[in-house]
Amino acid sequence: HTLIEKLEKTIENIPDFPIEGIQFKDITPIFLDPKLYEEVIEDLANFSRGKVDVVCGIESRGYLFGIAIAVALEVPFVLIRKKGKLPPPFVSEKYALEYGTAEIEMKTGQLKPGQRVLIHDDLLATGGTTEAAAKLVEKQGAIASQFSFLIGLKDLHGEKKLEQFNAEVYSILNY
Ligand code: IMP
Repeated sequence: HTLIEKLEKTIENIPDFPIEGIQFKDITPIFLDPKLYEEVIEDLANFSRGKVDVVCGIESRGYLFGIAIAVALEVPFVLIRKKGKLPPPFVSEKYALEYGTAEIEMKTGQLKPGQRVLIHDDLLATGGTTEAAAKLVEKQGAIASQFSFLIGLKDLHGEKKLEQFNAEVYSILNY
């Protein structure tokens, strides 16, 4: 079986969560299968090998794979956090949700100007979260060079929102 087939069997689809009409993808069963987890990391690391200087992961599922990608690539890992968790100094970026707004933050001084950054999260939906993450990276003079995800939801056109960054985008699975 290919990695894609194994993931399709492992990731659970929960209809009408968190609201009616949305099919929630639960990636946590991957952690019950350490061999599959290793294959996911290898696949994501292969996409970025030699192309980035730093990995940034988005709280919290972006940490579960992002830090292992960074270790595999032997590059630093920097956390992008939800609002209100970080002591100063930090930079922050607001973005639109379906209802209301959200905000993410990043400790300053860990990214260096000119560094090529991989931004990783578990899932790309509308792209709003990842777009805000890339803006945080660029606010600090670093370059959003790559985006990677386990899952990309094509119908929500997240990739369109990321075109402004002129970066490579990769999702293992596309729905
Ligand atoms: P976006 O900002 O609309 O692209 O939403 C992406 C963010 O929402 C990511 O941080 C995901 O972890 C989360 N997300 C959206 N839908 C799902 C889902 O079906 N399963 C798991 N996470 C989701």
